[in-house]
Amino acid sequence: MLKFWKKKPTDQGTGESEEATIQVPAEASAPEPAPPAPPPAPEGTVPVEPADEAAPSKRSWRERLSGSTFARGLTTLFARNPKLDDSLLDELETTLITADVGIEAATSLVENLRRRMHKREFADAAALLRALRQELITLLQPVQKSLDINGRKPFVVLTVGINGVGKTTTIGKLARRWRDEHKQVLLAAGDTFRAAAVEQLKTWGERNQVPVISQGQDADAASVIFDALQAARSRNADVLIADTAGRLHTQGGLMDELGKIARVLKKLDADAPHEVLMVIDGTTGQNAVNQVRQFRQIVGVTGLVVTKLDGTAKGGVIFALAREFGLPVRFVGLGETAMDLRVFDAEAYVDGLLPADFARA
Ligand code: GDP
Ligand code: GDP
Ligand code: MG
Repeated sequence: MLKFWKKKPTDQGTGESEEATIQVPAEASAPEPAPPAPPPAPEGTVPVEPADEAAPSKRSWRERLSGSTFARGLTTLFARNPKLDDSLLDELETTLITADVGIEAATSLVENLRRRMHKREFADAAALLRALRQELITLLQPVQKSLDINGRKPFVVLTVGINGVGKTTTIGKLARRWRDEHKQVLLAAGDTFRAAAVEQLKTWGERNQVPVISQGQDADAASVIFDALQAARSRNADVLIADTAGRLHTQGGLMDELGKIARVLKKLDADAPHEVLMVIDGTTGQNAVNQVRQFRQIVGVTGLVVTKLDGTAKGGVIFALAREFGLPVRFVGLGETAMDLRVFDAEAYVDGLLPADFARA
């Protein structure tokens, strides 16, 4: 049997680790009631982990990814046992482009397969599909580079990205992951633009027993994050994760703020931030490529997290990003709760989109 979901031993369900109902300490300003009986979450709140504790984290990559345009398109294309010919390759190219793989990556993948087909490398369409699977894995393998936070103490992670992509949620998930790995984690509420943003981060912190440094709404983001790094140092924390407000490249002042954050951090640690983690919404399509390009010009993005790949994502944007930038994809978000963040694994990802046993059929 293939292992579609390669878990690290550390997330392997320690029994307690799926605990969904850690009570959020009563706090007058908390935007939502404590679990376990939450109303539908309004924007900016933290999803409560389902009562069925182990289930969500045990669902495989495939289960999460099979609803994608990518998976459905290829299944439809190959399920009818098509003839191996140029028109199949044309259809394949269209399917890949529709799934956000990007024109360049799709064209190059398909042209390469076409060359091999004309050299009679493939006996049938299933053989072509297997070759495609392998090429997809090969395209993603160079960006499968996990984030090692052990070299520095505190290791400083600055999260950036546009609004609503999942930055704060990803921070909550990372806090949980690293806490479960017995790291001392500290969070910095650097999204000072909306009060709800600070509360949202605090809720994640409280649920996971991770302290959050904040100064409230309208505080200077750079000053919050500077204070947080000082606190992280004096508390001997292992990792500091800083949240920031979502921003667009057209918001010059806000983009400058990111540069300022990086500059003030360097006053305390010349190498900080050690990771600038850009969060991308996997449902955004090719616009994701523009977003990365723009943020890279302002701050040196060192890693990506692609979120919301569960559900209706097209699934292909990671290929476009891999081809265009080659930046490490550190994690992927496959759902809203604390356990729904996976270390990126190229083979597991491709298996989720295009299962090996399907390609064997
Ligand atoms: P931010 O503005 O970048 O901080 O984004 P948030 O962290 O507030 O997330 C915006 C919305 O996306 C929230 O409703 C999250 O629950 C949701 N979200 C974040 N990551 C994922 C994911 O991996 N899958 C799904 N389905 N939803 C996600
Ligand atoms: P602008 O076109 O760049 O001015 O952007 P907006 O119209 O979105 O914001 C107006 C002002 O609000 C900006 O000049 C900022 O001072 C402030 N602002 C907007 N978004 C943020 C944010 O995310 N963080 C902080 N600290 N201030 C913000
Ligand atoms: Mg946020």
